[in-house]
Parts: sequence; C-alpha cells; structure tokens
Amino acid sequence: MTRRTLLIGAGAGVLGVLLASCTPEPAPTPTPDGSPTPQPTAGPITPAAFARSSWATDSFALGAASFTPVGAQASAREALAEPIDDRLFLAGEATDVEAPGTMAAAVRSGERAAGELRRAADEGERVAVVGAGLAGATAAALLVADGLQVTVFEARDRIGGRIQSVVDEKAWPFPAQLGGWLLGSSDAALLDDLDRLDVRTAALSGDVWRSAEGDVAAVSAEPVQAAISTAQQGLEDTSLEDALTAAGADPTEPGLAALLASISASAGADAAQLSTWFPPTLPPAESTAPLGDLMPLIDGLLEGAKLSLSSPVSRVAYDEAGVSLGIASGESLSFGRVLITVPLGVLKSEGLQFAPALPFAHRGAIAELGMGHIETVWLRFDEPLIPEAPENADGDGDPAVATDPEAMIWHVVGGDALIRTWLNLAPATGENIVVGIVGGPDAEAFADLDDQEALEAAIASLAPFLPAPA
Ligand SMILES: Cc1cc2nc3c(=O)[nH]c(=O)nc-3n(C[C@H](O)[C@H](O)[C@H](O)COP(=O)(O)OP(=O)(O)OC[C@H]3O[C@@H](n4cnc5c(N)ncnc54)[C@H](O)[C@@H]3O)c2cc1C
Repeated sequence: MTRRTLLIGAGAGVLGVLLASCTPEPAPTPTPDGSPTPQPTAGPITPAAFARSSWATDSFALGAASFTPVGAQASAREALAEPIDDRLFLAGEATDVEAPGTMAAAVRSGERAAGELRRAADEGERVAVVGAGLAGATAAALLVADGLQVTVFEARDRIGGRIQSVVDEKAWPFPAQLGGWLLGSSDAALLDDLDRLDVRTAALSGDVWRSAEGDVAAVSAEPVQAAISTAQQGLEDTSLEDALTAAGADPTEPGLAALLASISASAGADAAQLSTWFPPTLPPAESTAPLGDLMPLIDGLLEGAKLSLSSPVSRVAYDEAGVSLGIASGESLSFGRVLITVPLGVLKSEGLQFAPALPFAHRGAIAELGMGHIETVWLRFDEPLIPEAPENADGDGDPAVATDPEAMIWHVVGGDALIRTWLNLAPATGENIVVGIVGGPDAEAFADLDDQEALEAAIASLAPFLPAPA
C-alpha cells in the first residue's frame, strides 16, 4: 500500500540501503510490544489479559508529556520552537503553546515546523526528519507534498512514538492503547482522519467516585478552577497545590485527592509541580476513545518519505553549508536541513548531541520545561466488574449515592491506591475492559514496577470496583 522505502536497521548499513533502495516495500507491522499476560500470584481476581506502559524508563521518550512547571513561562515553548540558522527546525508536542502534551499539539507543531523549513529550503532539497511520531509524520507528509526529498530517522523498530496500539487479537478484541489515544471536542481534524480510516470510536462519559465503603458524592472541579483563577491574579506563579491550600482546600482530602489524580493523569505532573499561571486542562466531561489500530494514521502520513527504522540519531552537526546526522551505528549522513521531533525527555537527557551546542535560548527552554509522567494499564476480565456500589457500611442496603451503571470514568477515593483514575470500556464496547491511567510521581513509581508488581498494584487499586474475594 505504500510507495515509501522502508529501511530497517542502522546496523545493516543505512547509507548503502538509502542509496540503493527504490522499490516499493510493505508497510511496517507495528510491534505488539505490550507485555504478555502474566499469571498473578495474588489478588482477588485474575484478568484474562494485561498490558502496561513504562514511558518513564523508555529511552526514546523518558516521560510521557511535557508540562509547564510552577515558575516557568509558556513562552519557553516558543523559544524551543525557534528555527536555528535556517538549518535546524524543531517540532514535537513540547513546542506547542496551545495544548502541549497532546496529539493535537504534535500535529500542529509538525505543520508549523514543516512550513518554516519549506520557506528556507531550495526546490527538491534533501532533508531529514528525526522521529516518526505524530509530529514527524505530519511534517514529513507536508514536506513530501512540497517536492522535497525526505528521509525520516526513527530510533525504534516501529513508528508512532508515544502513540502505541497493541494489536493482539488473542488478548484484545480491539487494540490496547499504551500511549496517546483519547480525543476531545477540539480534535475534530484527528477524529475526521480516524473516520476516514474506519477506526471505530466510543464516547466516554459519566463519573463514579467510589471508596472502599461505597460510592461518594461526585467531586466538582469548580473549587480547583476557582483556586486557579484567584492564583492567576498574584504577582508570582504558585503551584496548584499552594493555590488550593490558600483557598482553604485540603489537597490530601480523599475526594479532592482523587480529582487531582485525574488531573495528573492527563497533565503528567502533580499539583505541587503544576503552574497556576499556565494551568493544566481540567479533565473534560466527555472524551472520544478510538477502538482501532492508530498506526495507519501515522503510516499514511509517512507515505512518500524514506523511513529508516531502528536508527537512533546520536549527533547533529550543523553549519551554514548543511547538517550532518550521526546515526548510533557510526554512520554519518548529510542533509540540507533537518527537522527534529524527539521528545523533551530525550533533549533533557542529552540523548542527542548538538555541534555547536544549541543556542542558550533553546537550552534554557529545555531546562525550564518539565517532562511529565503518565502510565497506562489495560486489564480484560472474563467476568463483568461491578459498576454498582456495594451496600453502604450502615447496612441499610441503600447506597448513599445513586450510581450510574453506564458511567465510564471511575475514580478511586481514599485508601492507598496507586492508580485512581480508570476508564470502564464495558458500556461502550460490551467488553470487560478497564484502563487505568496514572500521572505524576505515582506514574514514575508505577513505571519502576516489574510486570507482576504492576499487575498487583493495578488490581489492588481497582479493589473498590472488584467483587469481594470469596
Ligand atoms: C501514556 C500516555 C497517554 C497519553 N494520552 C493522550 C491522550 O489521551 N490524548 C492526547 O491527545 N495525547 C495523549 N498523550 C500525548 C501524546 O501521545 C503525545 O503528545 C504525542 O503522541 C507526541 O507526539 P510527538 O511526535 O511530539 O512525539 P513522539 O510520539 O514521542 O515522537 C518522537 C519520535 O522520536 C523518536 N526518537 C527519540 N529519540 C530519537 C533519536 N535519538 N533518533 C531518532 N528518533 C528518536 C521516538 O522514538 C519517537 O518515535 C499521551 C501520552 C502518553 C505517553
């Protein structure tokens, strides 16, 4: 289906293959690198399938989503996005001011940087894109359409970057998504793309707030919004945690803590880290979940570009004559200009060496911005979970709070759950699948667990929604 040249393995000699290969090749199959289903040794219920992420320890991400830490300026993102000597162009979600840390940001940044590069480049120039995530693929499509010769270097053996669909029909009736996937009302263009690709979607809405004792009243985000608005009037930026405390709220109160956990699950940082001047987006009442493989979205964008998988770029040397890319295998390749989309976590770790060093403004922005953590766990059960609350502790048989059995967003209130935010996909799909999402320092702790420990932590977190042990 694709005419682009697929080059696998820097070790095989990227340059030789690059120059020699012009024949159509099959599209890459995404590597189903989700963990196999382990058998837990403990826990009240055994899932039939399990998959988890660990972006925090993934050397080509080193985190999940950029965030604006307290005290940082959102304009750092503009500084990071600034082209360097008309040779280096930077894209990726961290360079977007409007909605960093999202798929929409990646698309927007790819469009912006491709436009900047096109204006500087000569007709038919040979250019490179570093990274085959959504930003890199978006940019590559535009540059190819403009007649440039585009080579995309991707460190992994798969495309998609922080979008990762686990396609394994034996384990999952539809692909498990370990990275970005949920879309909101402002993501119309991406939703249209998915529609064109026949990717089924489901609307997720309705909350349940549940403690070990039963359902509790819904926790409103209004006080959080009010605390942010008040803090924004101050002369100095304050953290969301300090803003809440100043407003008389207790961020450790179980209901509020569960709400803050759901904010961390999309922002990637906790209330102590998050800025109120440049606040996180509060969780929307409804979002759209794609129920299909997201890789065709990226694959289609890469059509017409040469793709070199398993080719981590380790060095970028630039001067007025052009750019030389050092590939980890030891090869060095020259291009007129290069568009770089590696995640902020990689830039922070100096996983990519620049010669000369990036300008101070870029290095300042890299240091100033935060790389946040989000991890995901997917569980499929043979039996339905229990959307209805257990009897209340007073024993009168009546739950204090009416529960909507169709509610799809579950919050774990109180106790020591590591993962407090869960999506119940059963009402929308008929499958007993729940997805746990954890953000901030708890996500870092989750990423450090081995598969068995991660599964146990997930089951323990989900306990209020599981049948009581026999
Ligand atoms: C768990 C999780 C949940 C998320 N949930 C959502 C969500 O629900 N909705 C939403 O809108 N967004 C979500 N996001 C964020 C969204 O996935 C990202 O913002 C977006 O995918 C980033 O795209 P990108 O192209 O900027 O970066 P990436 O996808 O990270 O692409 C960069 C590419 O560069 C490659 N690379 C790294 N180093 C090198 C190197 N040295 N040489 C060559 N290549 C290199 C990487 O392998 C990667 O493929 C989530 C992210 C995570 C991790």
